[in-house]
Amino acid sequence: MADACWVLTDEYGGGRDEPVVAHYLTETRAKDAARPDGYRPRQLDAPCLTLTCSCCEEPLQDDDYGHAIHLADQAEATEIASAYDWTLTDGVATCPTCVTGPCDREADTHG
Ligand SMILES: [Zn+2]
Ligand SMILES: [Zn+2]
Ligand SMILES: [Zn+2]
Repeated sequence: MADACWVLTDEYGGGRDEPVVAHYLTETRAKDAARPDGYRPRQLDAPCLTLTCSCCEEPLQDDDYGHAIHLADQAEATEIASAYDWTLTDGVATCPTCVTGPCDREADTHG
């Protein structure tokens, strides 16, 4: 299982005021990112979940950040999936493009 991510917190333990909290895979990267504004790296208690489309294998990602959105648990996964118009059924995630389909893997077309 993957190691838990690192996040940046302020002196009160709060997160940065961002729509999507940035996660860092190593403490070193978190420290590098924290340096300019005095935030402190904190390792999460458990590894994150990410969602990958069962059809096109694209990760659920935030376009503003350009990396996969990390989810703390199934409840959050369900909430975020619906906020991004993904479906999540019995642990199988499908992106909005593939939900509306049709997808033809051999022709490399989606939606
Ligand atoms: Zn994470
Ligand atoms: Zn897809
Ligand atoms: Zn597809």
